[in-house]
Amino acid sequence: YAKDSGRGNRQFYQPGMNVRATDVLHQERLLREAIANNAFVLHYQPQISLADGSLQGFEALVRWRHPERGLVGPDEFITFSESRGLITPIGRWVMHEACRQLKAWQDEGLAMVPVAVNLSALEFRQRDVAGEIAAVLHATGLAPRFLEIELTESVLMHHTGQVLETLNAIKTLGVGVTIDDFGTGYSSLAYLKRYPIDKLKIDRSFVMDTPQSADDVAIVTAIIQMGHSLQLKTVAEGVETANQKDLLHRLGCDLVQGFLVSAPMDAQAAHRWLSP
Ligand code: C2E
Ligand code: MG
Ligand code: MG
Ligand code: MG
Repeated sequence: YAKDSGRGNRQFYQPGMNVRATDVLHQERLLREAIANNAFVLHYQPQISLADGSLQGFEALVRWRHPERGLVGPDEFITFSESRGLITPIGRWVMHEACRQLKAWQDEGLAMVPVAVNLSALEFRQRDVAGEIAAVLHATGLAPRFLEIELTESVLMHHTGQVLETLNAIKTLGVGVTIDDFGTGYSSLAYLKRYPIDKLKIDRSFVMDTPQSADDVAIVTAIIQMGHSLQLKTVAEGVETANQKDLLHRLGCDLVQGFLVSAPMDAQAAHRWLSP
């Protein structure tokens, strides 16, 4: 299996895919065991300021310590988990673990930055996300300003009333809201003014071919300008080259995240980024 190809194109099991039922049952059993045994781990990827290079946050990215295949990335089990009704305990663990870890670092006296946690559209619909976040912050003692949630545009295109209520409740807690993979989803811009959003995360697919692709440069420029006009911070994801970073800097993008800065790393390595 390709280790770091793009997302979405290497899931074993998509709904409707013709896989043998015994394989599905086997994977489902392993996943249930993983949930029971907490066989997940979070990796952290730094986000740095283009203005001064300082660390501004981490994105928490879940991995499964698979008994047969080693560390397995989320593209290979999040959708599968959703289809088997197993996403809720995984998502709950991720939220709790990210907050627990950040608070532990804070208690050690390390410099603090926020941690961003991803929530899929299904998770957002199925769970009382705001209530759960409040409970996790209370349980771990993490201050709300150190937590952000990343949502994709698909969350915002359905269930407008309920989504607005939930996002307002999250904002009221003092937790940040970021739109992930911006530009790849349903492209109504109306939600940018309707919902209380703090950050736009420019999808890797638009960053990838810059600065060579004039079209992608135009798209990235437009997203940054629009974001700033709406008082939103902009983050570019998947930044792999110095040329991409220089362009983003010139365009006034606020933050970058990508292999150029660092791949996602385990908690021990992330700890070193925070050491005073
Ligand atoms: P995402 O939130 O857009 O996360 C960015 C993905 O791009 C991560 O893949 C990261 O490792 C990868 N990446 C970062 N920098 C670069 C780069 O410079 N080049 C390239 N080619 N890739 C880069 P990962 O960790 O495999 O996660 C894939 C997706 O899985 C995430 O996309 C997110 O949507 C989802 N995901 C991750 N953790 C969770 C979670 O805890 N819950 C939920 N619901 N989804 C999660
Ligand atoms: Mg994300
Ligand atoms: Mg993306
Ligand atoms: Mg993303």
